[in-house]
Amino acid sequence: MKRRRLPTALLAVLALPAFAAQAYDYQLKPQAVADGVQVFVGKTENFSRENGGNIANTGFIIGRDGVIVIDTGPSKAYGEQQRTAIARLSKLPISQIYLTHAHPDHVLGSQAYAGVPIAALPGTTQGLTRDGDSLLSNLYRLVGDAMRDTELRLPTMEAKSGEVTVAGRRLRLIPGLGHTDADLMVFDETTKTLFTGDLVFFQRTLTTPNADIPRWLKTLDAIDAIDFKIMVPGHGPVLRDHAGIAQTRDYLQWLRDSLQGAARRGLDMPEVLQLTIPERFQRLAVLSTEYERSVSHLYPAYELETLPTVPKSRP
Ligand SMILES: [Zn+2]
Repeated sequence: MKRRRLPTALLAVLALPAFAAQAYDYQLKPQAVADGVQVFVGKTENFSRENGGNIANTGFIIGRDGVIVIDTGPSKAYGEQQRTAIARLSKLPISQIYLTHAHPDHVLGSQAYAGVPIAALPGTTQGLTRDGDSLLSNLYRLVGDAMRDTELRLPTMEAKSGEVTVAGRRLRLIPGLGHTDADLMVFDETTKTLFTGDLVFFQRTLTTPNADIPRWLKTLDAIDAIDFKIMVPGHGPVLRDHAGIAQTRDYLQWLRDSLQGAARRGLDMPEVLQLTIPERFQRLAVLSTEYERSVSHLYPAYELETLPTVPKSRP
């Protein structure tokens, strides 16, 4: 029987080494913002396959005896690459992780830190316990392959409000709320660096899926009173002034007023989506998509507010 010969092109393919799955490369490069304080600045974009979900800021503080990590990014691969980048700058062990809030772009890299205590506010742990699986599957859908093998890791301890010394470094843990129902800030007393989580956005439009605007505005007033020198917002460039607070407040107030006004005028949602956004917000990244999301999250509640209350029927 005559042996059939495989076509040359197929032979060439078979000769290739078995396809080795490569992890998405986030190309994380920490930016020094103060003595012992480093930040991985995320892209001011929406989640995409191209950015692997790297849209939030994370950071770390090198203490006397160890390293404190603030947020772990969107995926297992991000967490692993974050840890590798930290190890290039410090041989000290990772002592502690703080998670600022229960949004997937900030917390899903925790898997890379087996055995390291993960602290968060109780509301964050509750939020992740309740919504973690759906947040995770949503991110798989939006980001795809960069999420490979990512699993949710829940916080292992409570972050308690007040001063705490971790790895020989004095920190102040400041709870806030409004972006979600539990937003933790981490303040480094040595350098007066404040990690705000998503209570402050800068040059990128806010996300509001769990927002409570009145509470958020109150928290911004409290942040204004903190004696920080450097501010690491949840999204956008690092600041040395209060501009991020002012911009976040301005956008929230405008959003509240325009949605309230639209509801009182009886506009329906498609009409609200057509409203003109003021010129000063046009330079914010991802404005139209986040505005659309905010209208869909928040507008129904403003419409409800305008409904006449039905008087109680008499017995
Ligand atoms: Zn968030």
